Amino acid sequence: MKNIYLFKESYNLGKMILGGKGANLVEMKRIGLPIPNGLIVSTLACNEYFKNQNNLSLTLKDEIKGSLIKLEKETGKQFGGSNPLLVSVRSGAPVSMPGMMDTILNLGLNDKTAKALIVKMNDEKFVYEIYIRFIEMFSEIVKGLDKEKFHEIKEENLKYGATKVIELYKDLYEKETNEKFPENPEEQVVMAIESIFNSWNNERAEIYREIHNIDSKMGTGVVIQEMVFGNLNNLSGTGVAFTRNPSTGENIIFGEYLLEAQGEDIVAGTRTPENIAHLQAQLPNVYDEFVRIAKLLENHYGDMQDIEFTIENGKLYILQTRNGKRSPNAAVKIAVDMVEEGVINKEKGIMMIDTETLPQLFNGTFEEGDIAGKKSLGKGLPGSAGVAVGKVILSSERVKEGESVILVRTETSPEDIKGMSLAKGIVTVKGGATSHGAVVARGMGKCCITGCEDIKIDKSNQFFMINGVKVLEGDIISIDGYNGDIYLGEIKLRRDEMNGDLEKVLEWCKENKDLEIRMNADTPTDVLVGIKFGAEGIGLCRTEHMFFEEEKIWNVREMIIAENKEERDLALEKLLILQKKDFKEMFVNMAGLPMNIRLLDPPFHEFLPKTEKDVNILSKYINKSTEHIETRIKELKEENPMLGHRGCRLAVTFPEIYEMQARAIIESAMESKDEGVNVDLEMMIPFVGGISEFKYIKERIESTIKKTFEEKKEKIDYKLGTMMELPRACLIANEIAEESAFFSFGTNDLTQTTYGLSRDDSVKFLGEYKNKKIISRDPFQSIDTRGVGKLISLANDLGKSVKPEMKIGVCGEHGGDPKSIEYFNSLGMSYVSCSPYRVPIAIVAAAQSKILKLRG
Ligand code: ADP
Ligand code: MG
Ligand code: MG
Repeated sequence: MKNIYLFKESYNLGKMILGGKGANLVEMKRIGLPIPNGLIVSTLACNEYFKNQNNLSLTLKDEIKGSLIKLEKETGKQFGGSNPLLVSVRSGAPVSMPGMMDTILNLGLNDKTAKALIVKMNDEKFVYEIYIRFIEMFSEIVKGLDKEKFHEIKEENLKYGATKVIELYKDLYEKETNEKFPENPEEQVVMAIESIFNSWNNERAEIYREIHNIDSKMGTGVVIQEMVFGNLNNLSGTGVAFTRNPSTGENIIFGEYLLEAQGEDIVAGTRTPENIAHLQAQLPNVYDEFVRIAKLLENHYGDMQDIEFTIENGKLYILQTRNGKRSPNAAVKIAVDMVEEGVINKEKGIMMIDTETLPQLFNGTFEEGDIAGKKSLGKGLPGSAGVAVGKVILSSERVKEGESVILVRTETSPEDIKGMSLAKGIVTVKGGATSHGAVVARGMGKCCITGCEDIKIDKSNQFFMINGVKVLEGDIISIDGYNGDIYLGEIKLRRDEMNGDLEKVLEWCKENKDLEIRMNADTPTDVLVGIKFGAEGIGLCRTEHMFFEEEKIWNVREMIIAENKEERDLALEKLLILQKKDFKEMFVNMAGLPMNIRLLDPPFHEFLPKTEKDVNILSKYINKSTEHIETRIKELKEENPMLGHRGCRLAVTFPEIYEMQARAIIESAMESKDEGVNVDLEMMIPFVGGISEFKYIKERIESTIKKTFEEKKEKIDYKLGTMMELPRACLIANEIAEESAFFSFGTNDLTQTTYGLSRDDSVKFLGEYKNKKIISRDPFQSIDTRGVGKLISLANDLGKSVKPEMKIGVCGEHGGDPKSIEYFNSLGMSYVSCSPYRVPIAIVAAAQSKILKLRG
């Protein structure tokens, strides 16, 4: 089977086989752009290499040799010949992972080809420079040798001539590896290919894949490409540019370049480069040509591009293009602009939004009142839009999960990837806004400032100086990724309002989705937030949460502690008044949108007084001795509250609780209606496990409602349904559907009960399950489609077999998780419900899953 292709032989093979970098190079070649010749070792070869215990098989080696000969023919140059062929060997996976894997430049050099090249180019200094770079890079990447050791040798011996340095370099290589430095160009290329295959499994690549949920079975492609030289003379250079600003989304070319430099110098962030605008003055023809190609590529791919280029002696070459990583702010603006410019359609615009990073849009901005008058300590380049507050940490290893940290580094290397993913924001001293560090930060949706040369990190790595101010590790700073300002101390954040562009995107999504997006809202304030973000109803109103407020909780405690019906009725009467007030406010705020209220499901252990102080207060409140209360608490204590006396089981023993609630809900609904407010009311019974249980409670509720109607001489429509959160309920869903107006899957409890796994306790050990690769995702975050999903899908089918038009939805954390939403959409559910701040994410995810479903 064929594993290796010349660019021109692989026009339609696609990213999975060629890798993203390779596939885009091939495509650019096809449409006639200036691309140096090359070939691609496919991901198939990489996977064969892994299958073969990380060895290149003989057939594969032969194929490599054969294709190198083809490349010689195509370029008219020879490996090791008098017109020597030099190549780069570049990693390129199907999904782009900026800077995570390796690339080696200038392969093909040895003492013989170096001499030949000097004769050909008549430039000894240049040839030795690339030769020296080559040995350094090859030794570091293929053999893992320490770059610093090479740099020391160079510093001490350059005065004796470049050939001396090269000789000592090879000695060092031999000493450290017990092998001679490979002189044969083919051998160099083969070794480089193997090392790039291996870099697929290096630690930083693994971490990056985990953070971004990338399948680790794909493997990487390798591009072997003829070298062009940005360090040849002062008409040469190298650069990186985005077709639009990747931080703000503004539609102007955003890029950086360096003259007399090789590509790695910029992307690795080791030199702070020039703004691309200067290129217009320095090399106007090249600049114009670049702008033309940049627009062409953007239109061709229908997305903002991140382009790497090199100029050799006044001629422009494109070395890479890919869809550019962008901040969540930029993503929204670019989608809207490109749709309005007519470059792409709305579906494509919707698909451009990354639901993983979108939540960062709602992290907030600095509160204007709090920032006014504050002076910034210093300024860097705005690398990724957003603001962040946290304590300064100067080393990635010291960044701890769960803490708000601003990671401050001289430059970020790929080894920092884990620390970056945990930090709230990132500041680097060196590196431009196109460095890998900035690119990776934007891809993670993190606020980031780069090239802040005002900062001098102390050698001790315990503090930094910035314009005369000393900032210790652990000090709080606030950073502004919109303009690059850094402030000492905490600046208060204001949660973002919706911006106009995001509103547009959500509008398109609403035209393009089947799932209704509801919110989980327990208070009138929640409702306002959710509506602002586009919620189309309430999927879950947890009535017990209404009581978490200070005054109300005593009332609930009174009810729980009550010893008999009289005491309980007394407490319930007071609750009735409080609940009615809350419900009315919510009906008003909902203005006729559907509202699903869940009857009480109070886990006793969450509500009972825990401290002596609380017992004392309660004792005064209900006028009972503290001893009495302590005894009641002991009596009520459960061995296993998660599976104990909760949900509708409470209503079997104390029917008056749900009767009170039903009355409160119905009365407030009718009063709202009388005041001209539309009400679309659903009520649901939690934790149902059997049909007789459900019927018993339903009858009690319905007779209360009937009584209420009679008393008030008025009626109102309502639906009474059930939550599906126990496996047994799912298994007999057809029986339940006979009685229930709708189903709402409570996927949190359903996951707990299906796995037999307590969510609160699982945090202690699920991490180990992930580390040991026993599970890949936390089932409480993303629905377990194979297990829990099977129950849901079964119940969905059973329910619809009885009532084909039945409304079936999902409430619980999973309703805001894009992967889970895709799954629920595939089952044809009516709605998902999630927390108010996740509503916009769910709206986008619902539209994206519909678009994907239609595309098949
Ligand atoms: P990464 O994936 O880390 O960006 P690349 O394979 O793109 O690695 O290589 C990094 C840089 O090396 C490129 O941006 C380019 O400037 C330079 N480079 C790679 N191949 C060549 C080549 N054939 N000629 C000149 N420069 C090259
Ligand atoms: Mg690159
Ligand atoms: Mg539940």
